[in-house]
Amino acid sequence: MANVPEYFGSDVFNESVMKERLPKATYKALKKTIDNGDPLDIEVANIVANAMKDWAVEKGCTHYTHWFQPMTGLTAEKLDSFISPTEDGHVIMEFSGKELVKGEPDASSFPSGGLRATFEARGYTAWDPTSYAFIKEKALCIPTAFCSYNGEALDKKTPLLRSMEAINKSALRILKMFGSDATRVTANVGPEQEYFLVDREMYAKREDLILAGRSLYGAPAPKGQELEDHYFGTIKTRVQAYMKDLDEQLWKLGIYAKTKHNEVAPAQHELAPIYGTTNIATDHNQLTMEIMKRTARKHGFKCLLHEKPFAGINGSGKHNNWSISTNTGVNLLDPGKTPAENAQFLLFLTAVIKAVNDYQDILRASVASAGNDHRLGANEAPPAIISIFLGDELTGVLDAIVNGVKYEDKRVEMEIGVDVLPHFPKDTTDRNRTSPFAFTGNKFEFRMPGSKLSVAGPNTVLNTIVADVLDQFADELEKADNFQDALDDLIKRTIKENQNIIFNGNGYSDEWPVEAEKRGLLNLKSTPEAVPAFLAQKNVDVFSKYGVYTEAELQSRVEILLDEYCKTLNIEALTMIDMAKKEILPAAAKYIKDIAKTAELAKSCGAETVFEEETVKEISALVTEMYKALGTLEADVQKVHSIEDTQEMANFFHDTIFADMGALRVPADKIETLVGKDYWPYPTYSDLLFYV
Ligand code: ADP
Ligand code: MG
Repeated sequence: MANVPEYFGSDVFNESVMKERLPKATYKALKKTIDNGDPLDIEVANIVANAMKDWAVEKGCTHYTHWFQPMTGLTAEKLDSFISPTEDGHVIMEFSGKELVKGEPDASSFPSGGLRATFEARGYTAWDPTSYAFIKEKALCIPTAFCSYNGEALDKKTPLLRSMEAINKSALRILKMFGSDATRVTANVGPEQEYFLVDREMYAKREDLILAGRSLYGAPAPKGQELEDHYFGTIKTRVQAYMKDLDEQLWKLGIYAKTKHNEVAPAQHELAPIYGTTNIATDHNQLTMEIMKRTARKHGFKCLLHEKPFAGINGSGKHNNWSISTNTGVNLLDPGKTPAENAQFLLFLTAVIKAVNDYQDILRASVASAGNDHRLGANEAPPAIISIFLGDELTGVLDAIVNGVKYEDKRVEMEIGVDVLPHFPKDTTDRNRTSPFAFTGNKFEFRMPGSKLSVAGPNTVLNTIVADVLDQFADELEKADNFQDALDDLIKRTIKENQNIIFNGNGYSDEWPVEAEKRGLLNLKSTPEAVPAFLAQKNVDVFSKYGVYTEAELQSRVEILLDEYCKTLNIEALTMIDMAKKEILPAAAKYIKDIAKTAELAKSCGAETVFEEETVKEISALVTEMYKALGTLEADVQKVHSIEDTQEMANFFHDTIFADMGALRVPADKIETLVGKDYWPYPTYSDLLFYV
């Protein structure tokens, strides 16, 4: 492989390719569309499409696809070839502006949450020129938004793009008052991606991993993560080869894969990219997940992106590092060097704090999934309660501002717009790993998203709720006679009113949920509990105000999330039943039979049979317990289908079926520890986690 700068982005129709291949006027017009969202006329689109096609064909492509992100949280594509018949029975390769700009994949089987029943069934894809086209598996991929005939968003990208526009507008209003010459504000994200790698042959022997993406049974291995010898440890050769291959492929796609390391749990790893605008970072993260999985196959691994593949050890998250910056290169969450910059920083900081407090319910709902329910609050990931960690220093400064007293280290007396904030070194703001929403020096790290989740959802919410608070601030400040006084008052008041959400303590402690309840913070523990927040009136109001989600679009998301939750649990329950009947109980029976036979033989020789008899008794008792639990689960799975309301069904899955599944797993895992290895039907946690 040539050196990295040479091949980086070689499969991307990026700025330099555009410059090289497009006539100057076309390039300029396209650039205007990319930078400012100006509409592109069809003539220009025709030239761009043709240049894209030539470039792709030279690189061996025969097909193109509109690449989109339906509400499944995955990516979708429908390939069309470039061929176009000629009169003499040959073909030429063609790609028109019309085909570039708009597609009609129909794609009516994607979940629409009822949006399509009421309107035209057809789905349309529309080019998102702000995200570069790229080549994947010999196909030219055009990043697109996916909408219904009436323009309702059937995907994750459309609302995200709308939310970026919302935060751009409201942040610019604020900046104008500070005399900034910025003309565009973007929200950025750097998603840290955690994942597990297990040996593919072993994976193939576990029905639960294949069908549910997580182990539904499994006794803990004698060794877990207690030695912490895996975290940042030397990466094993086979994993290293995988990571190298993965990096190379991501780099070719222009994805800034930056850091890689082993994580806390055995067989767990992390990849973090350099951050980008929220829509490109989302596209890149979706691609990263896809390529992680594909590359794993090549190296004899299975890449597990589930939030909790194994009980008893850490699950996987996707830390969402979020900031907002201007096109003049200012990070608005970076404390500045001058008093004016600091006042501006404090205003943006308090806007985020207020937004997270006012909209904690929907922020929580934006990361809800059956898989993530296992993670949140499980002593490895933040609890389901949203709070903000600011670190002692920044909290001290805010307290001093509210109380009008000197900041404790006496160096400064904080007066907004007059004084300079003390400098916060990154390491003092980054110690608390138990917080769901931590300020880390110049960005916020939202740690609740699960590893499998598309980051589109949480960032759509973050962008919109912060936009709303910024607009409230702007409304107030624009009316003020004295900007400085009004600013001072606004910041003080906002901090005071939102102090309940700031928590620098241990989020894993037993005291925290009690304290949080006193503070009036929400604790939405499961998906069925969290999801209805999408339809709370204040949330419907804010999302429709910014045109990010209409009420119908929110309703559709609720339907889809609950439906997906129910289906996931249903698959898990059926898989557990299947494995119990076809694998675990037969294995236990066979072992009991053999041991009992051994006992008979031993007895006939006059030998002692304590082990045999005790083992037979112990396993038989567990088999009975398991059989009963199995019966309960089967009966409840039958019951669930008579429930019509989706919310009620989700509640039943959570309260009853999920509990049944837990009750079935307990005796099964105990049996695993008693039955001989040769008898056990599938690889154990030891095999899966420590073999590679
Ligand atoms: P840590 O493990 O300490 O959280 P990592 O290096 O694993 O740090 O990941 C940090 C992530 O934060 C990276 O993806 C990085 O690009 C991203 N990041 C850094 N600065 C910003 C910023 N200003 N806005 C958004 N993301 C950022
Ligand atoms: Mg990290």
